[in-house]
Amino acid sequence: MKKITIAIDGFSSSGKSTMAKQLAKEIGYVYVDSGAMYRAATLYAMRHGMTNTDTGVDTEALIEALPQIDISFVRTPEETQHTILNGEDVEKEIRGMEVSSWVSPVAVIPEVRRYLVKLQQQYGKDKGIVMDGRDIGTTVFPDAEMKVFVNASPEIRAKRRYDELIEKGTPSDFESVLANIKERDHIDSTRKESPLRKADDAFVLDNDHLTREEQMQVLIKLFREKTHG
Ligand code: C5P
Repeated sequence: MKKITIAIDGFSSSGKSTMAKQLAKEIGYVYVDSGAMYRAATLYAMRHGMTNTDTGVDTEALIEALPQIDISFVRTPEETQHTILNGEDVEKEIRGMEVSSWVSPVAVIPEVRRYLVKLQQQYGKDKGIVMDGRDIGTTVFPDAEMKVFVNASPEIRAKRRYDELIEKGTPSDFESVLANIKERDHIDSTRKESPLRKADDAFVLDNDHLTREEQMQVLIKLFREKTHG
């Protein structure tokens, strides 16, 4: 069967990563979490003194440092994927609230986007890939055979993210999680360079009231249609 490229875009915490991961596993494709790449670049900036609550992100320093930012993924024995930044497993750290609050301002920098988009395109050059993010169907893989745009209300997304943080033992309060989600939605959809937007040919998956199993059924059906013509 011919391999295709699958792009899954949507708002923060819409459940797209879980969905993309599960789909990739089911169909034997490689999964790439493009958000983790923006998060890892953000962590690099934070650790190197390039983020400051008064002055924001030191864009010039970050652009200069881009060639030193190496991001890759490893599969753990538990079959989960971890993000590696310059040889270090940063999976836990990149999911925290501090990285979440800096990632959107970092992701608006056009040079950062170009650098990461190039890496993402290299990962996908042989197809057989499921990648999730904000601009995968529009900018990274505009020719992807299967594009999905995931929609869910901010409150439902905040509840999911909040439950996830609590489950991981990260102290959080619901109101700040909701505020962070709304702020990221705003920055992600209004930025100049490849904003979050539905590709014209994307299938819209509204998942407010769908269970994980129902979502998977929809995706598998779509995948079959795309690969069997
Ligand atoms: O998907 P996740 O919420 O982990 O992504 C973190 C942030 O990275 C997003 O809020 C967005 O600012 C940025 N991002 C992006 N383009 C992508 C993936 C993520 O701008 N393709």
